[in-house]
Amino acid sequence: MIEVLGVHKSFGSHEVLRGVSLEVEAGEVVVVLGPSGSGKSTLLRTINHLEKVDRGFVSIDGDLVGYRRRGEQLYELKEREILKQRRHIGFVFQNFNLFPHLTVLENIAEVAPLSEARRFLERVGLADKEDAYPRQLSGGQQQRVAIARALATRPKVVLFDEPTSALDPELVGEVLDVMRDLARSGTTMVVVTHEIGFAREVADRIVFLDQGVIVEEGAPGEVLDNPVHERTRAFLSKVL
Ligand code: ADP
Ligand code: MG
Repeated sequence: MIEVLGVHKSFGSHEVLRGVSLEVEAGEVVVVLGPSGSGKSTLLRTINHLEKVDRGFVSIDGDLVGYRRRGEQLYELKEREILKQRRHIGFVFQNFNLFPHLTVLENIAEVAPLSEARRFLERVGLADKEDAYPRQLSGGQQQRVAIARALATRPKVVLFDEPTSALDPELVGEVLDVMRDLARSGTTMVVVTHEIGFAREVADRIVFLDQGVIVEEGAPGEVLDNPVHERTRAFLSKVL
């Protein structure tokens, strides 16, 4: 469903992604672990074409992201076409990114019909909050609204960038519960998180990114309990 092949990305002289390749099957849940600054957010953002890659490519369900191929040549899509393509890719940010001046229902109705908006609000357990404004909700509730909005376009994949990092500890569980439910229902997900318990329980595969390279990947039991790479061990010893 997702294919990332040989992706390089630099900001100025700093090469943040140094040849990342990652395949994610339909229905698979991949958790990306790695130290701060290792390129996790940049990797997610290239999958969504929020960042253009310097080299390599990304495709979702066989479609190149951000480009059209004509013969041997690649042409970048127009902004309108990129926006259309992004509807196939749900993105959940650390800081929710809800519109503060819109109600919960309006936030979701920005991207989907009302009936769909209500359906997904119900799915995240917030049907009774549709007329509330984001500031009237807890952080956990706001993030659940953001997840409902990400789902409402019926994306092929959903990307999560540290979805619980901005939350008070007692609110983390309700968001992880929603994500666990999505994973169980077969949603294709790539999740950047430091929630190791969630990774162990929900991930089909864990990928460890360090300094812009995937240094290790495998089943949660392998990567978490028997990390091969010294850098993975060092990282896990800090977060476990
Ligand atoms: P992570 O999410 O793993 O913490 P990021 O992908 O956010 O890492 O960032 C990786 C590196 O790239 C960091 O050193 C960061 O400062 C740098 N970086 C990210 N985005 C930009 C940008 N738009 N301009 C310049 N540097 C950036
Ligand atoms: Mg990040």
